Parts: sequence; C-alpha cells; structure tokens
Amino acid sequence: MMVNRELRVQKIRDGVVIDHLRAGTALKILEMLGITGKEGYIITIAMNVPSQKLGTKDIIKIEGRYLSPSEVSKIALIAPRATLNIIKDYQVMKKERLTLPDEIVGIIRCSNPTCITNHEPQIQSKFRVVSREPLKIKCEYCETVMGQEEIAKRLS
Ligand SMILES: [Zn+2]
Repeated sequence: MMVNRELRVQKIRDGVVIDHLRAGTALKILEMLGITGKEGYIITIAMNVPSQKLGTKDIIKIEGRYLSPSEVSKIALIAPRATLNIIKDYQVMKKERLTLPDEIVGIIRCSNPTCITNHEPQIQSKFRVVSREPLKIKCEYCETVMGQEEIAKRLS
C-alpha cells in the first residue's frame, strides 16, 4: 500500500494531472489523446483508486505535455467529473473542474449513419446536452440521443 500511496502523490515538474476520472476510463483517455507511451512522456496512471467522491476513480499524470481546449472537452465527455491540474515547475498553476458546455460542436460523430453531419463534411456535428447524470446528448440535426458509452466510441 505504501508504494501505491507514493505513486499517487509523486510530484511532476511540468505537465498535467487529470484526476477524478470515472474508474476504467484512463486508458481510453490516453488513446483519445493519441498517447501510446512511445512519445517519451513520463506517464503515471492509477486505476480504480478509492475516492470519496466517486467510489473509485482513475488518475493520469503526464509530464511534459499540456492539453488543448478540444482535448479538455473530450475528456469532460468521457469523464464529466474530472479535474485538471496544470503543473508548472512543481507548482499547481491552475486547478479546474471540467465542465461540459451545453452545446458540443465538432468533436463527436453522430451515431445515426443517415445524419446529414455524416454525409456533408462542411457541416459540423452539433449536440445539446440533455442530461448530465447520466450523460445524454442529442444531435441538433437528427435528434438522435447518445449516452456515455456511445459518446466514448464516437469522439473524433
Ligand atoms: Zn445526427
């Protein structure tokens, strides 16, 4: 247990700590960020860690890399209660609870194969959040409703 505890609190110099991820989502998030482990970043992943807020949670620490706004939105879609800590020179420069905007434009493909957004490349997908817990979003064009699992599969 001691080893585990040290792993969790070990500080990174510059980078991000993504905390309070829904348990079991860490690997999906790394995949979505395009991180395979071959890039050379120092990455610490903790999965199924006990959490007061969530029961269990995952944590990802990435040294030497920051996240773009669209990456942050994608993480919020997979793990809506996640928190993002931005670390510079061992200090937490910014700590934010990820929030999902009411409207999500361009980062998810609609699950309806006949939806116009899947056929007209110049039309960006657009979804409205209809429920946050559990997460449900609705396509503005064809009104298809997608839940958490569906969303995770269709992030583009
Ligand atoms: Zn649609």
